[in-house]
Amino acid sequence: MLLTAADIKQRALAMGFDVCGIATAAPVDERARRQYRQWLERGRQGCMAWAERYQAVRDDPRALLDGAQSLVMVGMNYLPQRLQPADAPQFAYYAYGRDYHDVLKQRLWQLAAEIQEATGCVSRACVDSAPLRERYWAQQAGLGFIGRNNQLIVPGRGSYFVLGALLTTLALEADAPCTLSCGDCGACLEACPTGALDGDGAVDARRCLSCLTIELRGPLPEQAQSALGHRVYGCDSCQRCCPHNSLAQATQHPEFEASDELMSLTLDDIVAMDRTAFNRLFRHSAVKRAKLEGLKRNAHALRHPDEQ
Ligand code: SF4
Ligand code: SF4
Repeated sequence: MLLTAADIKQRALAMGFDVCGIATAAPVDERARRQYRQWLERGRQGCMAWAERYQAVRDDPRALLDGAQSLVMVGMNYLPQRLQPADAPQFAYYAYGRDYHDVLKQRLWQLAAEIQEATGCVSRACVDSAPLRERYWAQQAGLGFIGRNNQLIVPGRGSYFVLGALLTTLALEADAPCTLSCGDCGACLEACPTGALDGDGAVDARRCLSCLTIELRGPLPEQAQSALGHRVYGCDSCQRCCPHNSLAQATQHPEFEASDELMSLTLDDIVAMDRTAFNRLFRHSAVKRAKLEGLKRNAHALRHPDEQ
């Protein structure tokens, strides 16, 4: 049976993806490769040592799947309907509900199974789980453009989207890449509390509160502690200020909504949290990435900023 690009997109949207576009599996362009190498040479990956590995694969997704022809790029809007009170310990919006890796992968596996059944072609689902440049490929697939805040911005819908990719041996007609840009806006550079954005679309992970509160093991740098505000896991400042997000609609996916327990969580609750409570609350959440120790470190830094 023949499956066209239009068929795949129709199926992806029917499965609950909010956006879907297609790119041809090919080497990453020279400009994007050079930018990534410069980012590494400047040490901006900070504690994210994994970013240094598998360069050849990162440069050409075909290395991830023999015979790969196409990338089906998908996104789901995660902006929660119900937000935490402003004085609560703040979690990044994407981490309110169920772990997006699981939510997207389950759907991508279903799409892969349907493709295989219809055509015999094989596919590989990637959601942050492979050295694949998801934002780059989403732009190539026409879903949006990469803003100065390093997020994929979907025109007319904003940047609160989690992304996934299905690399497949099925040959599909590709979409035109998105050629929009931020223009002369620099709101996110102003809004970033630590100066982690330098205007070229890259983030300095050594300064970024999202990276530091989640990925860093050990004490938080002093500059980060003083910039935390109420943030205990992640940071959305460079998205909240983005004019494109004034158009963002709340998600229609209940999986991305916070539980009542998360909504009422206090700093004292986190400081006193034991492993059993952490596992119960965050077992199916992206928050487990920070581990109990990291979350408590962040909470302690919020409660006693002078003691760190
Ligand atoms: S997530 Fe926060 S700290 Fe990181 S670049 Fe954006 S505004 Fe700056
Ligand atoms: S705030 Fe402005 S500069 Fe930053 S990502 Fe949004 S549009 Fe681009």
